[in-house]
Amino acid sequence: MKREDWRGPLIAAVAPYSYRYDQPLARYTSFRIGGPADLLVEVNTREALDRLISYCERETIPWLLLGRGTNVLIKDAGIRGVVVQLGPDFNRITVEGVNLRAGAGAPLALVAETAARYGLSGLEFASGIPGSLGGGVYMNAGAYGREMKDVVAGAEVYHLDAGFTNLNREGLALGYRTSSLQQSRGILIEAHLQLTNGDEAAIRAEMKALNGQRREKQPLELPSAGSVFKRPAGAFAGRLIEEAGLKGKTVGRAQVSPKHAGFIVNLGGATAGDVLALIEEVQTEVERCTGYRLEPELRILGGE
Ligand SMILES: Cc1cc2nc3c(=O)[nH]c(=O)nc-3n(C[C@H](O)[C@H](O)[C@H](O)COP(=O)(O)OP(=O)(O)OC[C@H]3O[C@@H](n4cnc5c(N)ncnc54)[C@H](O)[C@@H]3O)c2cc1C
Repeated sequence: MKREDWRGPLIAAVAPYSYRYDQPLARYTSFRIGGPADLLVEVNTREALDRLISYCERETIPWLLLGRGTNVLIKDAGIRGVVVQLGPDFNRITVEGVNLRAGAGAPLALVAETAARYGLSGLEFASGIPGSLGGGVYMNAGAYGREMKDVVAGAEVYHLDAGFTNLNREGLALGYRTSSLQQSRGILIEAHLQLTNGDEAAIRAEMKALNGQRREKQPLELPSAGSVFKRPAGAFAGRLIEEAGLKGKTVGRAQVSPKHAGFIVNLGGATAGDVLALIEEVQTEVERCTGYRLEPELRILGGE
């Protein structure tokens, strides 16, 4: 169906939720890269989300969910179909004893900060990860030897066929930068985290130390999507890239960060094409020099 034919009826069907036509997605990603979405819709209730996704499926309109856009590379041609964002009603955080429940749209840093305020330990590692809780569970985000898997006890998930259901830890199948949601196209609505009692000052001191390490080692002053490649078994992507002599390598306005070779940074005005060409060059050169084939960790979204 041509977009002229579906956008009006879709808006009528999901109104009055907030939407934008042909919205450049660069401003919704930490890379500051990405062409336009045919339609960007922010939903604020479970019912609206169900209506929107059901409509898209019925009319075969492609859709995808965007969190805080910190682990994606959106292609220059943008995204055909509907890009869905979860609105503020999916940001709520509640704490009961050692149990913290938070909406998928809540920034991970805010979830970690809330845990610290209640003297709950377990999320110190996540306080410097810039994504949402939903993206964090979907990717099983991790740092400094810890990962979401260590604290996630269960989650409420939306699937087109099953509606809103609860999954336990096993059902989420969290593994290295993976979860069952990546196969099932499930949308994480809320996560239930099980933390442990700790001392607020000690928790904050650890968060401060880890974030200091980040600032020292990572190029946080430039737009990026974090580590571009997954860690291959028995090696570190950044080290392999350095070994291949690619630190500082530039294609267009995209550069392998001279500060941390695992990051590609946008020097200002980089296109997705620049980043993709650089990724390919890194893969080829690293494989030639070290024998390791690096696989992207970031999600590459959109058409040609
Ligand atoms: C400077 C910097 C540092 C970083 N450091 C780390 C780090 O230390 N460790 C780490 O693991 N990552 C790191 N990242 C990457 C990123 O922050 C994480 O992967 C984060 O969890 C992604 O969340 P997001 O909301 O931005 O997801 P997005 O980038 O918006 O989306 C990523 C994927 O998750 C899906 N998704 C998002 N929300 C949902 C949802 N509610 N339900 C279903 N699917 C969803 C999207 O469809 C997409 O496929 C870093 C990134 C940057 C820019």
